[in-house]
Amino acid sequence: MTDHHANEPGIPTRCPHCSAAIDLADLLAIAEGTGLPEDPVLGGGEPLRFRPARFDVAGRPIDPSGAVCGRLACHRCRGEIAIPAKASPR
Ligand SMILES: [Zn+2]
Repeated sequence: MTDHHANEPGIPTRCPHCSAAIDLADLLAIAEGTGLPEDPVLGGGEPLRFRPARFDVAGRPIDPSGAVCGRLACHRCRGEIAIPAKASPR
């Protein structure tokens, strides 16, 4: 398989769960605030996955409750994508 697609260092090019090609612009953020509903697709108490529209000064997504989120999820299977702490989601 040839894959010329390249993301920022530390960010995988394919989802480890479903092998979907990862584009930073497609990734969902995982909500970390309290009082938010569980993810409507995953259920089971999994935190909400959402398409971030707001970001803090460091480029981290801000969830609907206003909490900064440091975890990202696959846009297809919603599985968490492990991102090295020093790599910015943006
Ligand atoms: Zn996936």
